[in-house]
Amino acid sequence: MVYHSTRGQTPPHTFSQAVEAGLAPDGGLFLPERLPDITPLLPQWAGLSYAELAAEFFTLFASEVSREEWHALTAQAYSKFAHPDTAPLVRFTPQTYVLELFHGPTLAFKDFALQLLGLLYKRQVAQTGRKLAVLGATSGDTGSAAIHGCLGQEGIVIFILYPNGRVAPLQERQMACSGADNVFAIPVPGTFDDAQRVVKETFGDTAFTREVNLSAVNSINIARVLAQCVYYISGWLRLPAEAREKGVEFVVPTGNFGNVLAGWLAAKMGLPGVSFRVATNQNDILHRFFSTGIYEQGEVHPSHAPSMDIQAASNFERYLWFLLGGDTPKVRSVMTEMKSTGRADLRANMAADFRSTRMDDDTIQRVIVQAWQDWQYVLDPHTACAFTAMSPEKTSVVLATASPAKFPEVVARATGSEPTHPTLEALKALPLRRWPLTADVEVVKEFIRAHL
Ligand SMILES: *Cc1c(COP(=O)(O)O)cnc(C)c1O
Repeated sequence: MVYHSTRGQTPPHTFSQAVEAGLAPDGGLFLPERLPDITPLLPQWAGLSYAELAAEFFTLFASEVSREEWHALTAQAYSKFAHPDTAPLVRFTPQTYVLELFHGPTLAFKDFALQLLGLLYKRQVAQTGRKLAVLGATSGDTGSAAIHGCLGQEGIVIFILYPNGRVAPLQERQMACSGADNVFAIPVPGTFDDAQRVVKETFGDTAFTREVNLSAVNSINIARVLAQCVYYISGWLRLPAEAREKGVEFVVPTGNFGNVLAGWLAAKMGLPGVSFRVATNQNDILHRFFSTGIYEQGEVHPSHAPSMDIQAASNFERYLWFLLGGDTPKVRSVMTEMKSTGRADLRANMAADFRSTRMDDDTIQRVIVQAWQDWQYVLDPHTACAFTAMSPEKTSVVLATASPAKFPEVVARATGSEPTHPTLEALKALPLRRWPLTADVEVVKEFIRAHL
């Protein structure tokens, strides 16, 4: 299997090369040359553990990694998840289920991809003998999940920039209390966009990226998307046959479009009878797009579900490639138009692939109250965005993307008591280790050089 760029101006990459590059050199995103048909494999996958299923799935996408090695990698990646099912499926009614994706080390779904990506980086270091510097910017969850994926890995040093005072206190602790010598949590003044700009400018200096062997940790890496396909398959396999026969709608809290895109790709690979609903908060670029066919960026308004406060979904380009029938010049022209005008009219190309809904902050609060009253179940604010408007005919599977304990203030306002989690409680006693820097690319480069 080789990987092509959505913009069509990058030579084919192997899986390992595509993972290492992250973004394609032509500015596009990598996609596999074809999607394998998994339908005939589903019966034999039904009895596998989560890690075994992940290994068998990845064997279809990266032949340069042996099946044996995949099994070792996924066994290790999912060993730190606290639940025996890794991604347990909780039944509310015969027609309504929640797929809990928050039992990993940082209590959000991003651990599914980043625990594995950390091990893929380690494998690369072992093969090349070169130390790797990993750099990223975060508004919270990605940074902590990335840090915990690289924690203590020999040959890897990770640098995460975040806006000072603008990530949740517990998210900051998850980044800055790891105690590991290869982790640098770096608060910078300004907003997430300022942190992101410094990271982008650092990657713009290719001499520097080569000098320190710099790799980007962000949501567009193809390994992350593929790792996320697995829990859709696992969730589907765990449903009773009667529930599957009705057809299954996965309802997915969405920001960068990475999570729900993975499910949609699994459907294109032959996961039978599944459909999707995109659930956004008040930052509703994707809801507006699926309702109107016009993709138009707006301003970001901070919400109760901060990990979805996004108005430009970085994984959207992969879906766009499919919408435009793989016409790479057209992808390029739409992306250029989007970049210059913040808008693209795709009404002529729309397909009925996704339903969508949007939820404002007041409704998030009300939904958390309602779920608590009806089910004694505590939703986090991101999951709450999805916990509504269930399909009357189909079986609904809501993806729970974070533990409510990560967002205690919002949840306590709704339920009357602060949710806690032992992992987070333990963090409160640990010293914060932060390396504050100015939001200046030269300062950041010097810091990376000095700490490799
Ligand atoms: C990142 C994140 C999301 C959004 O996922 P995307 O892949 O960006 O759509 C939703 N919920 C939580 C808790 C997250 O951390």
